[in-house]
Amino acid sequence: MTDTVLVINSGSSSIKYQLINPDNGDAIAKGLVERIGESEGHIQHKYGEKVVDVNEPIADHEVGMREVLRLFDEVGPSLAEANIVAVGHRIVQGGKYFDGPALITDEVRDLIDELCALAPLHNPAHLKGIDVARELMPDTPHVAVFDTAFFQRLPEDTATYALKQEVAEKYSVRRYGAHGTSHQYVSEKVASLLGDNALRQIVLHLGNGASVSAVKAGRPIDTSMGLTPLEGLVMGTRTGDIDPAVVFHLQRQTGWSTDEVDDLFNKQSGLKGLTGENDMRAVRHMADSEDPEVARRARLALDIYVTRIIKYIGSYTAELGGLDVITFTAGIGENDADLRREVCERLLPFGVRIDNEINNQRFSAPTTISTDDSSITVMVVPTNEELAIARQALTLI
Ligand code: ADP
Repeated sequence: MTDTVLVINSGSSSIKYQLINPDNGDAIAKGLVERIGESEGHIQHKYGEKVVDVNEPIADHEVGMREVLRLFDEVGPSLAEANIVAVGHRIVQGGKYFDGPALITDEVRDLIDELCALAPLHNPAHLKGIDVARELMPDTPHVAVFDTAFFQRLPEDTATYALKQEVAEKYSVRRYGAHGTSHQYVSEKVASLLGDNALRQIVLHLGNGASVSAVKAGRPIDTSMGLTPLEGLVMGTRTGDIDPAVVFHLQRQTGWSTDEVDDLFNKQSGLKGLTGENDMRAVRHMADSEDPEVARRARLALDIYVTRIIKYIGSYTAELGGLDVITFTAGIGENDADLRREVCERLLPFGVRIDNEINNQRFSAPTTISTDDSSITVMVVPTNEELAIARQALTLI
């Protein structure tokens, strides 16, 4: 059997995993453990045609991970025969320490721990996954792949906030970006497909979380996420850009704690805050509602969503000194033809033209949706963060 990599994305109450063949990109098996620590947990394990669901309480990450290993044993493929050469762990925050993947030693583990202050919603959950997986698979190399690593190469002027520098330096306040694995994977794919390494690119990663990057000749020039994934575009439940004084105003007016405002901005805002729904399909459905108030609110949310994207495309085009390619990726970017059309229509004055028939197709492979006479190439490129993690992990083995 060929070499494989087990990719793990450990969240606060979930573990997503895929066993990947890094050569051809196939996901041999994959699954999800969810509602860890709640009274009723759930695991779904898929291997070929087999889909197994387990409903039982999952006390903690260790129990969850042991269950996953048991499912590999019982449902397949047998991990003993799967030739796993590495376990790749997705880590949101690598701070200033990591500009590429890192073999997880005790020292690396401690640095990820130190970075919990910068990513309190993410890094503690990743550490649980790392600790359990290292304990259960002690003979396999474990590799951390950081969402921030690609953006460690941001120029100083886009990475630095105009904050009093003594404070910024003391507390590591700077723009780290996120979704870097996806932005790197997609921008490299575009460069190789178009056969041009000097391209000026904008990549729109529009999933539940959403971010945009400007990439010039393979180097990130700017990106919309900042110290944390809260900054930038409108997202499923996050505000994206907002005047920081809103925090002071709300805290003075309401007496809410820091954690309450954090929760409001990260989990109750964005599309959800504007419409009650965080899922783009539900928002589109609301926009067609016969209730005029429901339809108005959904339409407004969509307009805010698109306008924010347009603002970034405009400013990034200027920062890049011109633009060759715009690429859409992730759940919304890959599947929402209306969204792509709405964005591109706003770019008509700049000569952007897409072929609506091609745009309305479903995409499982990278596709150009702009017409030959478009001033800028527009593409849809399915992202594959797990494959990118697997391949990055392999570079260290
Ligand atoms: P995550 O950031 O959780 O990985 P995804 O990249 O899977 O998220 O994207 C999830 C988003 O993609 C959701 O808002 C979902 O509504 C949206 N999406 C998926 N399919 C479609 C579709 N056909 N039309 C519009 N939006 C879609």
